[in-house]
Amino acid sequence: MEVLNIFQGKKKKAILHINVSTFEQFKAGIEAVKESKIPLIIGVSEGERKFWGINYFEDLIDEAKERGIKVYSNADHTKNIKKAYEAIDYDFDFVLFDGSELSFKKNILITQKVVNYRNKNNKKSLIEGELGYLTGHSDIENTIELKEEYFTSPDLAKEFVDQTKVDLLAISVGNVHGIPQKIKFKNKEFKKITLNFNLIKEIKNKVNLPLVLHGGSGLTKKDFIKAINNGISIIHINTEFRKIWKEELSKLIKEKTVIPYKILDKIIEKLKRKIILYQRLFYYV
Ligand SMILES: [Zn+2]
Repeated sequence: MEVLNIFQGKKKKAILHINVSTFEQFKAGIEAVKESKIPLIIGVSEGERKFWGINYFEDLIDEAKERGIKVYSNADHTKNIKKAYEAIDYDFDFVLFDGSELSFKKNILITQKVVNYRNKNNKKSLIEGELGYLTGHSDIENTIELKEEYFTSPDLAKEFVDQTKVDLLAISVGNVHGIPQKIKFKNKEFKKITLNFNLIKEIKNKVNLPLVLHGGSGLTKKDFIKAINNGISIIHINTEFRKIWKEELSKLIKEKTVIPYKILDKIIEKLKRKIILYQRLFYYV
């Protein structure tokens, strides 16, 4: 699919992936792409799809595409195989089948099924697999414990990709979902995530496909640039945008007006500015 061409050139770059559960978040994404002219992946998890109604969400994406806006849909963290099939039927651009909580063998087996379903039905969805465990939720978290055994093994990644024929791979290299106040790792406490950049490079050398970094919230500009230079092609940022949405809404809701768009417009603008900032950082590394 054309979106993969973005990663073909010599110049290293990555695309931002945001999650949306409200129309403000969606509109902020669309407005950002209109201004930045940089592609954006808009993802919806199983929970977010249920909240939107999968058909409404895909209609919005299709409408934007028809107007020439470079947005791509992703069925994020799909753990139920039927939900993965459903997203493929709805022509999502990307479907992440997340078998990271399953055994290695079972993860391969079910991911293979998802790829086969796409092939058998001549569908266009690119399939992302996930190997290694990503701890945390896309929320403000207290303490998150990170273990080395969660990290993606380069050799297993190679085996996983060879066997499943996925188009993209989500990896665990020290990244976590959400914004934790504290990280526990090897019996020590840290305030901030430290990514294993060498591991990204090792995995990239073994599997020649776009690697996806989930849990970008809270990482620094330097972290992002290093991650991209070592082989990351898509970066998910979710909690940081959720935080902006809530903080702005909490402030603005106190205004006297009861007209929703007068409140929500300001949230959209704030989100849009931040989306563009990351888009430019990732795209023009
Ligand atoms: Zn994720």
